Amino acid sequence: MYAHVIVDIANSQTDKVFDYSCPDTLACGCRVKVPFNGRVVEGFVTGVSEETSYPKDKIKPVASVYDELPALVPECFSLMEHISIRYRVPCALALRLFLPSEMRLGKVRSKFASFVSVGAALPEGKRGPKRREVMDFVGERGEVSYSEACDVAGGDVVRALIKAGNLIKTERKEGRKPMREGFGIAKTDVVLTPAQESALKSIDESDKRVILIHGVTGSGKTEIYLNVIAKAVAEGKSAIFLVPEISLTPQMLAQFRSRFGDMAAILHSGLSAGERFDEWWRLRSGEAVIAIGARSAIFAPLQNIGAIIIDEEHDASYISETAPRYSTVDIAKMRAEYNGCKLILGSATPSIESYIEADEGRYGLIKLTERINGRPMPDIITADMRREARKGNFTGFSSLLRDEIQDVLESGNQAILFLNRRGYSSSVICQECGYIARCEHCDVYLTYHKEEECLKCHYCGATYRMIYACPQCGGKHLKYGGTGTQKIVSELKSLFPEARVVRMDNDTVSGKDGHYNILKKFADREADILVGTQMIAKGHDFPAVTLVGVIDADMSLHFNDYRAGERTFQLITQVAGRSGRAGEKGKVIVQSCCPENYILRYVTSYDYDGFIANEKGVRKVAQYPPYALIVRMMVTGEDNAAALDVLKNVYFAIAALKDEHPEKFIFFNRMHSPVKMIKGKYRYQVLMRLTDDSLLEKFYDMACMYETPKTLVYVEENPTNLS
Ligand code: ADP
Ligand code: ZN
Repeated sequence: MYAHVIVDIANSQTDKVFDYSCPDTLACGCRVKVPFNGRVVEGFVTGVSEETSYPKDKIKPVASVYDELPALVPECFSLMEHISIRYRVPCALALRLFLPSEMRLGKVRSKFASFVSVGAALPEGKRGPKRREVMDFVGERGEVSYSEACDVAGGDVVRALIKAGNLIKTERKEGRKPMREGFGIAKTDVVLTPAQESALKSIDESDKRVILIHGVTGSGKTEIYLNVIAKAVAEGKSAIFLVPEISLTPQMLAQFRSRFGDMAAILHSGLSAGERFDEWWRLRSGEAVIAIGARSAIFAPLQNIGAIIIDEEHDASYISETAPRYSTVDIAKMRAEYNGCKLILGSATPSIESYIEADEGRYGLIKLTERINGRPMPDIITADMRREARKGNFTGFSSLLRDEIQDVLESGNQAILFLNRRGYSSSVICQECGYIARCEHCDVYLTYHKEEECLKCHYCGATYRMIYACPQCGGKHLKYGGTGTQKIVSELKSLFPEARVVRMDNDTVSGKDGHYNILKKFADREADILVGTQMIAKGHDFPAVTLVGVIDADMSLHFNDYRAGERTFQLITQVAGRSGRAGEKGKVIVQSCCPENYILRYVTSYDYDGFIANEKGVRKVAQYPPYALIVRMMVTGEDNAAALDVLKNVYFAIAALKDEHPEKFIFFNRMHSPVKMIKGKYRYQVLMRLTDDSLLEKFYDMACMYETPKTLVYVEENPTNLS
């Protein structure tokens, strides 16, 4: 027999199938070790057959086989082909997506535990009280762990008994269960609302592969997901459920835990390598049939999938930022197609791309316009921070927000204060008149660069002198760099010394327990106010929260990205959705230096449709995605001169392409990337905006052609992060 093997080397020269002779028992999908160019490397068996096109005398045998059960299911190879074509990556790199990284190179193995049980009876009359004692101990219990037996009589005695056959030792694979129980009351006796019933019915009856559930915050989407999954499982199928960041949503976990128990496995980055490995095998072996996790769980080793669900589908974390730069929704579509199952996308604020798909009839659309039990949406009120400044208040708190916090503390409710601190720097805004520095050539705001003390446009690279007074009103209170969560907490403590405050951001949370402990403390009402970054905006269901404060809506509004408006709308709507979910009606205070901004007006009136209609218009006229394609060619390397050389080559090649097809280029520029160095690598980019994707193939070819051993070249399509 011959095995057709893809070697696990991500390199275009090795990106083909090599043949090795192998035992008859070897199955497609197994990982093997094979000799390759004088060394032994890992490889994936893509097929076995009696045929080979290689000269038979030259063929080498497979060196060893890793798996009893093939790690890769047949679907992997079909997806591999799609992925390697769609994202222009070698097959090996595509296949790696399907395996937890710790499985490669045999870094982690299953953990085995030893047990002992009684074998042949001890001959009567033989002395040795210790032997008797341990035999009785094991006999009474039937089976005990090896270490427990040793505790009774010592390892020497136990080993001697095993040797003599009086005790029998067995080894079993032991699962490292990562399942933290989550918290919150998991409701088991939920009666579906008519809206939920009819949503489930529409999903069932729809002839569309993809269905978008556009449901306001608190409309009971989770219950719909649970029912869809339960149905798939009842039909003997499996399911995938994705959330942006599983470790941030312990309440969600509790729900799944109580409903599905061990049938659900959790895959996420917060797990230890061993835990992830075991959860992964539970799915692969069929012991668990529901995969829950963040982006990478879309590659879960499931077969016969009955439903794929992506919650908060608009979330930026669903786009991979390392090669292959895949979109999770794209992969999910491929898997749904392969398995003939439905893909369900859910959000209170669908992305503009998904909205257009649904609007134009390619996706099914389900709308949930009301909260469960007709609970009111919270009132969203803007606080004008310019007015506060005129009154001499330069703190992070408007008088309105202060009053509302006071109320919450007095009534024993809870508040969430949200501060968006995205990116490494931000735009410059006048606190007195709301003026914001913008580029003369592009429709974007300028970014403050602290090290060079200047303002830059991240779209065209233009540099402007730093301003210290407002060009519009002469005001001296310019805000840049923004207010951090730490500062907000200390101001809060001096305003409300009696309040119990917890803070959650990248600095406070380390490891998987960090998030959990903070959220648990808040859920247990051991804190009154939770202050945090976007980590706290997603999916939480804290019944006692009646106030949400958005400290600085301008920060994300003026982030220099064509998606700034969309992101702001989504973020504020999401965070506002944490308020008033149970008892009392909630309130949301949004602080801004320009509350008249149209996006904030759409947010406060819950006018998603109006917002989208407007945003579509803006993007169409200004030629931004989805009506154009942004392509960024990145050139990075530790050697600055070498990287610059490569950049020059890439730039001239693209310039030549532009001369050939001038009509396809809307914008074209070469510059330092906004973040000039990451992890010791210089970063350069050629940024383009194109009318369509017809030249994409050429950019990918260029990336392969100009890459050198020292300098990496890669293509990003509509990058979510332009830093
Ligand atoms: P969403 O995900 O749409 O924001 P959730 O699924 O978190 O909303 O639901 C909001 C709240 O309503 C949760 O506390 C949930 O337990 C509750 N809920 C959902 N469905 C029902 C129902 N049929 N009956 C009673 N409560 C429900
Ligand atoms: Zn510009």
